[in-house]
Amino acid sequence: MKLTKKISLVATAMILSLILVVILVSLFSIRQYSLVAAEAHARTAAEVVRVSLTEAMVNGVIDRRKGFLDGLTSVQGLESARVVRSQHVIEQFGTGLPGELPADDIERRVLIDGIAVFEVTEHLREPSFRATIPYVADNQGGTNCILCHQVSEGTVLGAITVTLPLSQMKNSALFTVAAMVIALTLFAIAGLLFLRRATRPLIDTAHDIQAAVEQALEGHFDQRIRVRSRDEIGQISIDFNQLTAFLEKGLRSIRDNVAQLIRCRPSNNTNLLTNTMEMVDGLVDAAHFKQAIEEDETKLEVYRRLARVLENEFQLKLYSIYEVANSKNRMIPILVDGEETNNCRWCDQHILIRAETCRARRTGHIINSVETPNICNAFEPDGIDGAKHICMPIIQSGTVGSVVQLIAAPDQAERLHDALTLLNVYLREAAPVIEAKRLTDTLRESTLRDPMTGLQNRRFLEEYMDTIIAQSKRRKSALTIMMLDLDFFKKVNDTYGHDAGDAVIKNLAKVFRGCVRTSDLVIRYGGEEFMVILQDTGGDAALAVAEKIRAEVEKTRIAVGNGVQLQKTISIGVSEFPTDCETFWQAIKFADVALYQAKEDGRNRVVRFQAKMWDDAEQY
Ligand code: GH3
Ligand code: MG
Ligand code: MG
Repeated sequence: MKLTKKISLVATAMILSLILVVILVSLFSIRQYSLVAAEAHARTAAEVVRVSLTEAMVNGVIDRRKGFLDGLTSVQGLESARVVRSQHVIEQFGTGLPGELPADDIERRVLIDGIAVFEVTEHLREPSFRATIPYVADNQGGTNCILCHQVSEGTVLGAITVTLPLSQMKNSALFTVAAMVIALTLFAIAGLLFLRRATRPLIDTAHDIQAAVEQALEGHFDQRIRVRSRDEIGQISIDFNQLTAFLEKGLRSIRDNVAQLIRCRPSNNTNLLTNTMEMVDGLVDAAHFKQAIEEDETKLEVYRRLARVLENEFQLKLYSIYEVANSKNRMIPILVDGEETNNCRWCDQHILIRAETCRARRTGHIINSVETPNICNAFEPDGIDGAKHICMPIIQSGTVGSVVQLIAAPDQAERLHDALTLLNVYLREAAPVIEAKRLTDTLRESTLRDPMTGLQNRRFLEEYMDTIIAQSKRRKSALTIMMLDLDFFKKVNDTYGHDAGDAVIKNLAKVFRGCVRTSDLVIRYGGEEFMVILQDTGGDAALAVAEKIRAEVEKTRIAVGNGVQLQKTISIGVSEFPTDCETFWQAIKFADVALYQAKEDGRNRVVRFQAKMWDDAEQY
């Protein structure tokens, strides 16, 4: 219910109750007062009658009492008066004059009891006050009743009944009450009007605040309310206006700043509050994301976390994440639709070997097929009719380092487009982190590789030895360790110079790599010494590989400049872990012992380690 209506209803109800109470109280008190007055009046009349009749009796003119009694009715305020005799008087003096009516019920009772009866009667809707008062014999006062009446003192001699009209009194009571009611009503109306006037600003201000708050909930804080009075209500209006202005300014500034941060244009039509909250939420999530990826150990973890953001925060299940190997002009698929993979699903395979075929990689711009249909020729919808894609490059060190490709069915395209702004924030946050991780990877890679041959170095062996051993134990297969040393290499340096020596080392390193599987390790152990570790190959098969290396080296001709071609030989010592020994380092030692043996035996040969060799070696 509206406040105005409520106040009016309550005030009216209170006023009506007040009027009712006033009417009841006045009517009751006027009635009480009227009855008391009428009783006194009646008693006076009765006394006058008694005195007059006693006088008439004494003077012997009692028989003419009718005229006297009738005459009384002309007295103002007296309607009728009559007397009745008690049985004692009747017995002594007779029934009375002809025409005198016998006593009625009330009179008879009064004659018996000697107690006056007063009552209000109504005749033809005109109220009267009837009083029946007994005359009691006494011997005091002017006349001694006992002198004439043969009765004892205190005997009821008769009774007088007088009726007094009450209509005038009733009318004046009604008039008084009516006047009071009219006066009260007038006061009440005036009061109500004043109340209305006094509460008007309060109610109007309340309505204005209500409307402004509704607007604020819709995100519009530009509502101001009218200041209607100079009292507390006016102050509320001023304070409210200040509050909304402050909120509007604050929210607008937060939203604009956030919009600047996430590089999107703030929309003025949307809900300022929810709009700002969404943007701030997005930024906070992106900040958490950045913190998380900074603490991730590898690049792949970062890409996986990015994929989780796509799936969970943006509900995008179809996507590809590529890394660009700029030096090799290749795109390397990292994750496609949540799976680690080497293939692309949503692009022409061509982009894998020619990175510039990827439009996002080539231009460094967002490629948005929602805005520009069919923008990229390399996109493949893979069975989704009218599929849309947005490809976002992640710029690292000024070039495109990675590409995130998002795919959506046509009905989801709008959602994809909407996600773009915030996604950009995520990618901007991710870019330097991925770059740093790539750099770390490259650096790490470089410290574990020998720059001259591109082979892994001794540090790599130290770092990954535990992993290699654990893997071989898991697979329950032995590791074959070969130590290789070029024969009479010093001569090459001495005869053809150091550069020629380097050329030989580089070329032979390629020969070693070509003779083993990708999963096998070829390590430049130091100088012109190499180590080959074969996984899952042991026994004769391992010796065959060693022999193959030896033979390949023997027949390889290496050009060292000035038309000179060199052919070198190599000696190889072979041991097996854990067949020959308990520790890996021991196996290396044994391979070294076998190599020593190969040199001893005349070089250019493969020698399998035997326990006897160790015993011999220990003797020295
Ligand atoms: P052996 O058959 O007994 O192995 O005879 P060797 O001459 O090969 O003897 P040794 O293995 O002791 O000599 C290694 C030589 O290889 C010494 C060093 O000058 C040379 N050398 C080591 N590393 C390099 C390198 O990186 N480049 C060049 N040019 N020479 C190297
Ligand atoms: Mg050597
Ligand atoms: Mg040597």
